[in-house]
Amino acid sequence: MNKLVVLGAGESGVGTAVLAQQQGYEVFVSDRGVIADRYKKVLVQHQLPYEEGLHSIPKISKADLVVKSPGIPDEVPVVQYLLSRQIPVVSEIEFAAGFSSAVMVGITGSNGKTTTTALLYHLLKRGGICAGMGGNIGDSFAGQVASSHFDVHVLELSSFQLDGIDKFAPHIAIITNITPDHLDRYDYDFDKYTEAKFRITKNQTESDFLIYDHDDPVIRKWLSDHKVRATLLPFSTEEALETGAFLQDEKIVINHHQKQISMDIKTQVLTGKHNQKNALAASMAAALLHVRKSAIKESLENFEGVEHRMEKVKLVNKVQYINDSKATNVNAAYYALETLRTPIVWIVGGVDKGNDYMELMSLVREKVKAIVCLGIDNQKILQTFSGLVDLVVETAGAEEAVKVAASVAEKGDTVLLSPACASFDLFENYEDRGHKFKQAVSAL
Ligand code: ADP
Repeated sequence: MNKLVVLGAGESGVGTAVLAQQQGYEVFVSDRGVIADRYKKVLVQHQLPYEEGLHSIPKISKADLVVKSPGIPDEVPVVQYLLSRQIPVVSEIEFAAGFSSAVMVGITGSNGKTTTTALLYHLLKRGGICAGMGGNIGDSFAGQVASSHFDVHVLELSSFQLDGIDKFAPHIAIITNITPDHLDRYDYDFDKYTEAKFRITKNQTESDFLIYDHDDPVIRKWLSDHKVRATLLPFSTEEALETGAFLQDEKIVINHHQKQISMDIKTQVLTGKHNQKNALAASMAAALLHVRKSAIKESLENFEGVEHRMEKVKLVNKVQYINDSKATNVNAAYYALETLRTPIVWIVGGVDKGNDYMELMSLVREKVKAIVCLGIDNQKILQTFSGLVDLVVETAGAEEAVKVAASVAEKGDTVLLSPACASFDLFENYEDRGHKFKQAVSAL
C-alpha cells in the first residue's frame, strides 16, 4: 500500500488525510505544533494515526508521497530532508485534484482572491451550477473531493499552494493582480513571487482559459515575455477590449467567441475599482461556464460582499464605519482609500511586511484628515505621514482606536480600518482585528 504523510494538521491537511485514506493510502499525519481539537476529532473519528509537537523523521521518511500544508515553508529542515531523499512533496491542491473529474477554476493574485472566489461561487450557484468553493477559503478542497460531488470547484489559490503543484491544471485560471506581498517567502525577490503566481497556468492547454487584469503592468510584462498555451481572456476597467471583459458606460461587456454580452451595472458590488475588477473576472468565468446573462446580472446585484473586506459596519452620527481588516498590504489599502469619496479618518498599522507607503501619498494628502495608528511599532507611519496629515494619533487597541476616530470624525466622514499591515502584534489574526473593531463600533 502506498504510504502518504501529511505535514500540518489544519483544514487542508486533515481533508487530505481523509481523502487519502478513502483512496487506499496508508496515512500518517504529523504536526509540529498543537492540533486544534476540531481537527483531532476528525482524525480520531477516521482512525487516522497522527503525532503533534514534533515531526518524527523515521516515520515520515517512509512516505512515498508527502502533502505539505501551504503554511510550511520549503526551508524547514523536515522538508529539506524529504527533498534530499527525493520524496515528492506536493500541495493539497495537487493531490486532491487527481481524484476529481470536476471542472476546476483556480483563482490567484495578490489581492481580491477571496472576494473573486466568493463572488464567482455565488454566480455559479445562482446560475444553477453544482459548485463547491475551497482552497484557502471555507472547507478544504480535499475534504470536498472526499465527501461531495461537485461539477465545478472554485479554488482560491495562494502562491504557496501553487508552489506545491506539479500537474494541476485548472480549466479556468484567474490572476487578479500582482503586487508585492509575502516577499519574505520568496527571498525578497518579486520575480520569484510573480513566477509562483503564474504557475497557475503552467499546465493549462489550448482548451483552457487564463483570465487576468489587463491593466496590471506586472502581468502584462510577464505575458509579453512568456508563452502561455491557454486562451488569454483579459479584463479591464480602463479600455474596451476586442476579447475579454471590460466596463463601458456603467455596463459590463464581455466579448468572447464572436459573441457579446452587455449588462447594466448599477449595483453595490461594483463600488470601487477593485470590486469592478473582481466582478469582471468573475462574470467572465461565469459566462465561460454558461451561466446565463440574466443570472449573472441578478447575482452581481445581490452579492453581499465578504466580511472584513470593505465591509460597511454602521452609520453612527452620520459617520460611516468600514471594516477592511483584511487589507494587510499597501495595495489593498490603496484601493480602499481610492474607492471612498468622503474625508477619511484612517485607522492603519500593525506588523509591517516591508511596506512602501509612497504610492499612498497623494491619496492620503487628498482624502485623509486624520490617522489613527493601531499597532505596537508605529514609527514608520508616524515618520511617513506626520507632515502630511494634521492629526496622527497612536493607539494600542481597537476600542481606543475607534473612540479616538469617533472623536475626530464629523458628519459625512468615513472611519476606515484598512491597516496595510498584518495583525499579529495586537490581535490573533485579521478576523479578530475586524471583530474587535466592529464590537467597538457597535458600542459607540
Ligand atoms: P485576498 O484573498 O487575495 O487576500 P480579499 O478578497 O480577501 O483578497 O481582499 C483583501 C483586501 O484587498 C481587502 O482589503 C479588499 O478590499 C482588497 N481587494 C479586494 N479586491 C481587490 C483587487 N482586485 N485589487 C486590490 N485590492 C483588492
